[in-house]
Amino acid sequence: MTEQGILGALQTRPAECDRHGEYESVMLNLDGQRWTGCPDCSAETIEQHQAERDACQADELRRMRGQAMFEASGVPRRMQGATLKGYVSDSDEQAAAHRQVCEYAKGLTEHLETGDGLVLMGNMGTGKTHLAVGLIRYVTRTLAVQAQYVTAPALFSRVRASYSGNGETEAQILDELVAAPLLVIDEIGVGKGSDNELNLTYSLLGQRYDACRPTVIITNLMSDDLRSWLGERVVDRLRETSPVVLFNWESYRGRS
Ligand SMILES: [Zn+2]
Repeated sequence: MTEQGILGALQTRPAECDRHGEYESVMLNLDGQRWTGCPDCSAETIEQHQAERDACQADELRRMRGQAMFEASGVPRRMQGATLKGYVSDSDEQAAAHRQVCEYAKGLTEHLETGDGLVLMGNMGTGKTHLAVGLIRYVTRTLAVQAQYVTAPALFSRVRASYSGNGETEAQILDELVAAPLLVIDEIGVGKGSDNELNLTYSLLGQRYDACRPTVIITNLMSDDLRSWLGERVVDRLRETSPVVLFNWESYRGRS
């Protein structure tokens, strides 16, 4: 069947578009009668819709990539819901800690240049990990920058496991963590800290320092104890690059 056959004899008339000038309008007899509009205008509308669809798709891709980055960061599943916004502060100290971490997050692009980090210091259960996870979430999902979360004990046992020839080496593990644009090391100072663990920590922080890569350290130890755990040389270097955020209040896990 020809087009002519479906539509009947084509009826046309000259028409003019304000923007594109003269065109020939065609009477359509499909779903009631109507005259076609300017073909250039139609083409533009189609293009615009396509552009909007592309933009939506790009947004969706960005969102998925950010989420994949967040999930690959090593944040334990149980903690993944933590956000910067969701941190509830009900004292001035808590609000100050919250603000410091949020400001750090906002300045991340600069910290990626300078290598400046943070030390989140204070009692257990005061929300240090919550804010650090919120930071990672923001950095990966909103800024599309990779970040890595690790606890010191998990790192040490991974390195110990590598000594028995499980396919990775201490150097590979270190390289991976040195390469992370932002690294969060939680639970620094848990346990006594063997010479080997301290050397590893020193080496990791030193290499990141040399590469100007920011590191966020989370610890339950207060300054003097951290100094004796990590050693003078590490703490001096940290002091140079990483301001301390104090979490100096009672645990809110224990509160009713
Ligand atoms: Zn037109």
